[in-house]
Amino acid sequence: MLKWKKGQVALFQSDLYMTNSLVVETPDFVLVADPCWLPREVEEIRQYAEGIRAGRKFLLLFTHSDFDHIIGYGAFPEAEVIASQALADKKVEERQVILEQIRAFDDKYYVRRPYEITYPVVDHAMGTDGQCMIFGNTKLTFYMARGHNNDGMFTWVEPLGLFIAGDYLSDIEFPYIDDNSVSYEETLAKLESIADRHPFTLLVPGHGEATQHPHEMRRRRDQSVNYIRAMRRLVAAGEQEAVDRLIEGCAFPRNMSKFHQSNQKQFQSEMAGDLTENKKGISHND
Ligand SMILES: [Zn+2]
Repeated sequence: MLKWKKGQVALFQSDLYMTNSLVVETPDFVLVADPCWLPREVEEIRQYAEGIRAGRKFLLLFTHSDFDHIIGYGAFPEAEVIASQALADKKVEERQVILEQIRAFDDKYYVRRPYEITYPVVDHAMGTDGQCMIFGNTKLTFYMARGHNNDGMFTWVEPLGLFIAGDYLSDIEFPYIDDNSVSYEETLAKLESIADRHPFTLLVPGHGEATQHPHEMRRRRDQSVNYIRAMRRLVAAGEQEAVDRLIEGCAFPRNMSKFHQSNQKQFQSEMAGDLTENKKGISHND
């Protein structure tokens, strides 16, 4: 539901997993980012966006291809889609896995959607780090963000100072590493110089609370870096109790411990020299 509206940005937070969807308006377009999860929630976002559109261009942005972030795609058939080239280039089999996760979620909770479940067709693909797209007088700048998964991107909506982070820099989730930990660290390491070039006034993560403060961005980044480094060291040393203690006090331990264990497997497979293979496929709904 609509959590707040500040100027040209409206933030909708799902009742599930504190997942954030955005509706952003500039004189040039109305942009919806990651509309999710439940049919009524997606419909609320769609109606809100249509209600303020007033003939402007309609853009739909996906931060990455995880099923919880593309689940609302079919409700916006008239929008032009922005996403990374890597999201656009996903192989048919990989797309099927993602769509199956949506269907499994809907089956689990007997959810019927008034739209088709399909994989996004990308109209505007981000292929290079730091790429810009200009719509009228509004500039969007994108940076590749791998590590959580392999097709993530950061988005800066420049005139608004809005930074759409996808599944990084959450205040409730430690890093969920589905791609690999080295890429994750590289993504975090880019943040300082990117934020220097594009000061932000609002940072919105995929899950959890938004923030207006650069020091909070750095705090979240440092927490993520510390988690990754500690995991790498403790998993290598086989110190299981210390590994388990790393997420002590986390927000939703019965679920989050599964992601922590999944991360441990990821580190173990990386240490075995197996950087590419993703053995887990765990998702928010597992
Ligand atoms: Zn997510």
